[in-house]
Amino acid sequence: NGPSSFFNEQEEITDYFLVDKIGEGAFSRVFRAKPVGDSFLAKNYKEVAIKVIKKDHLTPVATATTAAGGAGNTEKLSTKEQVLKEVTLHKIVSGNCPNVVKFIDFKETRSYYYIVQELLKGGEIFNVIVKFTYFSEDLSRHIIRQLGVAVKHLHSIGIVHRDIKPENLLYEPIKYIANPHPKLRESDDPNTKLDEGVFILGVGSGGIGTVKLTDFGLSKQIYHDNTKTPCGTVGYTAPEVVKDERYSMQVDLWGIGCVLYTMLCGFPPFYDDKIDVLTEKISRGEYTFLSPWWDEISDGAKNCVRNLLEVNPEKRYDIDEFLADPWLNKYDSEVNLKS
Ligand code: ADP
Ligand code: MG
Repeated sequence: NGPSSFFNEQEEITDYFLVDKIGEGAFSRVFRAKPVGDSFLAKNYKEVAIKVIKKDHLTPVATATTAAGGAGNTEKLSTKEQVLKEVTLHKIVSGNCPNVVKFIDFKETRSYYYIVQELLKGGEIFNVIVKFTYFSEDLSRHIIRQLGVAVKHLHSIGIVHRDIKPENLLYEPIKYIANPHPKLRESDDPNTKLDEGVFILGVGSGGIGTVKLTDFGLSKQIYHDNTKTPCGTVGYTAPEVVKDERYSMQVDLWGIGCVLYTMLCGFPPFYDDKIDVLTEKISRGEYTFLSPWWDEISDGAKNCVRNLLEVNPEKRYDIDEFLADPWLNKYDSEVNLKS
């Protein structure tokens, strides 16, 4: 974390000036950075986010087997293969969806890989949950709906994210409020207000801003674009594999369910200090709408969570069913109060 390691990451790259560290993952450090010079990139992006992966920092690991993936679905990839896969998938998905973090550039130097992306100034939704403990139903809906749009985009082109969590959900705070709440009008910086705990961030006033999904490090392509043809050799694939692949998309809906549950009450649906107990609870789908935290939460919201945290992936909401959920499509009270 010291200045010397920071210097190394800067030393090998000339196209970008690394300003400060804004994030850290298991195998990466993420920096706010500025493109150097007067390239096309520098003209279009004042600031970017760069995920830096140290070459010898990442040992070949088996990527996560999905809940539906079953045995034999584990891949072993080298560091380089893993990074290139993440970059390839990020490029594919960041094309034309407002709720996916845009991919900008990729660089490889002697000791590092640099994945350059658009900068999301709000940071992680995770930190907003920590700050406010939990969200109103309106704010939760406003955020989870945007995640739903991102997942719909991924699934429609045959890609499963596999790592949906509040740490991988970033947001860009609202810059301009068309119809500000009276309390927000006092300041032109909605972020300041957010810090002070003004939490009337209804959807009518722009909510929290634009929410975007990132981190395609565990993502996988199941189908090719449009065709619904499975990747890999077609024709010799066993039925259970085809079926597993089809249902592996459903892990993202479970992820959406965990995020929604957490936003509504302030703690995750499954928790235990002992990892084996936790694993057991998850595999049985053992969670509750704990009193008093869930007492005031509507049946509609609970019903939506229930359909997402369904153990059987065939019965669980798919992305289209989720997007059609009655609670998700309720008008936000802020919108109703407007005009
Ligand atoms: P890892 O694969 O190591 O988890 P991520 O891509 O999730 O890496 O990035 C780690 C963290 O860095 C994120 O959780 C977030 O806090 C921060 N971060 C990543 N990308 C951006 C971005 N485009 N804008 C702002 N912060 C980011
Ligand atoms: Mg991450």
